[in-house]
This record gives sequence, structure tokens and C-alpha cells, in this order.
Amino acid sequence: MQATLKKAVMFQGVGLHSGAPARLEIHPAPAGHGIVFRRTDLNPVVDIPARWDHVTPSRLCTLMDDGKGNTLSTVEHVMAALAGTGIHNALVKVDGPEVPILDGSAAPFVRGILRGGILLQQADLRAIRVLRPVEVREGEAFARLAPADHLEIDFQIDFADAAIGHQEKRLDMANGAFLRELADSRTFCRQADVDAMRKNGLALGGTYLNAVVVDGARVLSPGGLRHQDEAVRHKMLDAMGDLALAGAPLLARYTGHRAGHAMTNRLLRALFADPTAWRWETCSPALEDRLPGAGVAAYDLAATAWVAA
Ligand SMILES: [Zn+2]
Repeated sequence: MQATLKKAVMFQGVGLHSGAPARLEIHPAPAGHGIVFRRTDLNPVVDIPARWDHVTPSRLCTLMDDGKGNTLSTVEHVMAALAGTGIHNALVKVDGPEVPILDGSAAPFVRGILRGGILLQQADLRAIRVLRPVEVREGEAFARLAPADHLEIDFQIDFADAAIGHQEKRLDMANGAFLRELADSRTFCRQADVDAMRKNGLALGGTYLNAVVVDGARVLSPGGLRHQDEAVRHKMLDAMGDLALAGAPLLARYTGHRAGHAMTNRLLRALFADPTAWRWETCSPALEDRLPGAGVAAYDLAATAWVAA
């Protein structure tokens, strides 16, 4: 069955890059609607479907584009929260060009969605089954989708900074794993990157409270890490959000090796360019039970996710 929210929920914060105040509302939507973003600050308002073919390449975040120059940036964390709570239909209203960063993780969005409540809709849910491996590469980095009965995410990163270093993690995303293991992991960056971004007018809304900032072996953010491997967990959170832009739950194993937003989008484009690589599948009740949002509740959120409320 498809699902939406029982009632609208609202979030207020700043854009990570613009530093400007930003307000986001998630409204219930009818079956078959999908996830749609609406820029309410534009007149007339602009709607952008949350789908891979509306993504414009961007190194730092996932940027949606309506094809006419109207954009919305940094959609990945709210998309991950919607996928992780099994919301298939929603109208997401934002009053500016950037989704608020909140605490840099998906936990505040998850908590808000659960507060709004999940409403099951009497409509069949279709998933996208990956039928054969699809891969994109760039130097040593790659991203791959392979057939699997439910979503798995396998990620590896390598950073020169000792505070991050080599990290790898693999998760079966069923049974609330997203909430328990990934949702509260925050965006991370190096102090040197922050300095460079600031010079270019980016990361103006970034603080030590909404991003984990590292410098060599040191974690500069007060309170340190929420997880020893918070960085790779956040990359998996990003992948979850970027994969949700497939437009329906994916039945696949995703492997990311030093992959980023642009690469995961290229991977979806490669998948959908090959009609023999995937097919629609109406979910049986057994299959629905294995989807990331099935049966999730507030107690699935990691304990640390409540601290930053
Ligand atoms: Zn992120």
C-alpha cells in the first residue's frame, strides 16, 4: 500500500549554503501523487517532481531543476527521511531556493514525519526491481546497482584526514534500519573545505552544530561524533535520499565507493536508460514488509537523534 502523512508538518531553519532562513512544510497528498517539491516563494509557484530526471549535476548537494531555471537545492536529507519512513505521496513546500539544513542529518525530518503520523492509502504500491547490474565510474570512485530482493546499501569512503580515514558499512534497509543506524548522522566536511566554500560564498549557513567539521585527526564540532563512523553513515543517508529520486522504492543492492550525489544520479540515469535493466513490480504484502519504512516508529530513532531536537 502507498502511504502519506496524516497531517502537515513544518520545519524551520537556514539553508546550509545561502545562510538564509528557510521554512519547509510536508503536506499529505493523494495516492499516485508521488513526492513533489513546491517553491512557494515564486509567483506563480513552481512544482518540481522529486525524480532523477529533474536533478542537475552539483558536487555539494542534490539540486532539483524544473527545466526553466527554477531550482531547489539540498533535497537529499528530507528525501532520505521520506523514504526511510515509507512516505510515497507528499507535497513538500519550501519558501526559498534551499531546503533548511536543520542539524545536518535527517533525524529532525524523521521525527517531524512521525509526529504528523503515517497514513496508509488504499492503493497498490509499485517498486522498481533491478534486473541486472548497472555501474558508473569516475577514476577510483564508482556506484553500482545489482539485483536484490530489498534495498541494501554498501558504502566505502577514504579520506586523508585521520578523523575520518577509511570507513565502510553495509546495511539491509529493512526493519527500520534507516532510523536506527543512519538518520541522525550529520553532514561532514574538512575545515579547509569550509574556508574554500566560504570564499566562494557557500556554506554561509554552516556551523559546528549542523555539520561535523574535521581538521586532520581532530573533530572540531563540540560534542564530537554521534557515531565513530558517522561519516560513512551520512554518505549512506545521502545515498538513501538520492536513490529515493528513482520515484519509487528500489529493490536493489547499492554499492558506493567514494561516490557522491552526482554519481548516484548518473547511476539512476544509466539504470533508466536501459529498459532491460529494471521493471515495475507491484509489491506483495511480504515485499512491503521488507521496505525501509515498514512499521517504523519513533523509538526506532537512535538515542542521539533526540539530543539535537
Ligand atoms: Zn548529506
